[in-house]
Amino acid sequence: MNVPPVDLKSQYLELKEEIDAAVLGVLASGFYVQGVNVRTLEEEIATAHGAKFGIAVNSGTDAQKIALQAMGIGPGDEVITTPFSFGATVECILQNGAKPVFVDIDPRTYNMDASQIEKAITPRTRAIHPVHLFGQLCDIEGIVSIADKHGLMVFEDGAQAIGSTRNGSCCAALTKGASLSFYATKNLGAIGDGGMVLTNDEKVAELCRVLRIHGGVGSPYWYEYVGHTSRLSELQAAVLRVKFRKLGQWNDLRQAHAKIYDRALEGTGIAAPFVDPQTTYHTYHQYTVRCENRDEFLAYLKEHQVGAGVYYPFAFHLTPAYAELGYKKGDLPEAEKAGSEVLSLPIQSHLTTEQVEYAADVARHFAVDKAAV
Ligand SMILES: *Cc1c(COP(=O)(O)O)cnc(C)c1O
Repeated sequence: MNVPPVDLKSQYLELKEEIDAAVLGVLASGFYVQGVNVRTLEEEIATAHGAKFGIAVNSGTDAQKIALQAMGIGPGDEVITTPFSFGATVECILQNGAKPVFVDIDPRTYNMDASQIEKAITPRTRAIHPVHLFGQLCDIEGIVSIADKHGLMVFEDGAQAIGSTRNGSCCAALTKGASLSFYATKNLGAIGDGGMVLTNDEKVAELCRVLRIHGGVGSPYWYEYVGHTSRLSELQAAVLRVKFRKLGQWNDLRQAHAKIYDRALEGTGIAAPFVDPQTTYHTYHQYTVRCENRDEFLAYLKEHQVGAGVYYPFAFHLTPAYAELGYKKGDLPEAEKAGSEVLSLPIQSHLTTEQVEYAADVARHFAVDKAAV
């Protein structure tokens, strides 16, 4: 059996009639940008997250970059973030002219370790930018209480956590806001790129709306700010609206897949994902396990046609783009160790139970054979 990492074609086929009608409807309408689909999607997604405002943009990365700009983050500022994530988490800080400062991760959840934040705060620190990795919200209450104590803002990278909850709340509930990504393979994926800022702060929302279209305010071609071209197209919004109605069911399927893996890995040397007791809904963007002989495990899975992946093999500070920040190997030991031990098993909603059971069997065989040697 072949188990791909994701099956986007089956996802499309499940909703083919509705998606086709939505796409043709946009084509026939003559309105291709900033129309009713974008506005409605913004309302639907913000409401589902309990947020006041949703501002759709062209990607999750743009959502982060534009939101930090709207919060006034710029040259001379330091923003505390995680060294273990997808590149966008740190790019958005540097691209606003600010300096990222890394805090090591909690080795169980791979999210920022809130207990290490205070020692990274300097007089230049303005904000904390945590990520909710793999579909599990980070210790946002812990982070917010430190931020409040030191007068810092918090903006969350929720690209992998649409629909996730902690103590009953979604991302953006306690902070300046959060970014979402609709990249094709995310839990809610467009037919290409897309993203959104969620916020309860009216000023931030207003500025994000202005910044996504070149920073113009008032009269046409009057630029108050240096902005961006970051519109979500009506086509993408129309498709996302169709898929969004299914997101709850699709996330439930991911949870069912996770249970199959949890059972298969029980009592083996491969550690299943740790679910924080305060996590009330895990959306399993990834099902990430860890083991010491990770590379061997990866090769074994590939040999058996299981589409596993490594998210992420390197902490940011070990890669050339971020060498200038001045960190060295050993500075962020948990992030570095995770990079050499993590592996994600296929868990997307549209894989079949048979495919996941097969992948789980292969994983268990590897673990049991190794133990027997
Ligand atoms: C996907 C992702 C992003 C960026 O989203 P894009 O839509 O691809 O720009 C940011 N952060 C994390 C953690 C992601 O997984």
